[in-house]
Amino acid sequence: MLRLILAFILISMVLRAVSRLVRGITDGMGPPRQTQPPAVALARDPVCGTYVVPAKALTAGQGADMRFFCSEKCRRAWQVKPAPPWPNR
Ligand SMILES: [Zn+2]
Repeated sequence: MLRLILAFILISMVLRAVSRLVRGITDGMGPPRQTQPPAVALARDPVCGTYVVPAKALTAGQGADMRFFCSEKCRRAWQVKPAPPWPNR
C-alpha cells in the first residue's frame, strides 16, 4: 500500500514537471510578451525644461495654449511671466 502511494506521488510529480516543461516551451515559441508600457507623448515644462507626462502634470491655459508644468512653482512662474514655448518641441 505504501509503495502504491509513493508511486502515485512520484507519477504526479513527473506529470507536473512535464506539463511545466511543455508550457515553458510553448511560451518560449510564442510571440514575445509586451513588457514595456505604451509610449506616452511628453510635454515640456516651459519654465524649467523638464519633460512631464501631460496626464499627470499641472496645466495652465487652454486648447493650443495649454502648457504643462512639473510643479506648482513652475506654473506660478509661468503665470507671472509667460515665455514662448521651447523651439525644439
Ligand atoms: Zn518645472
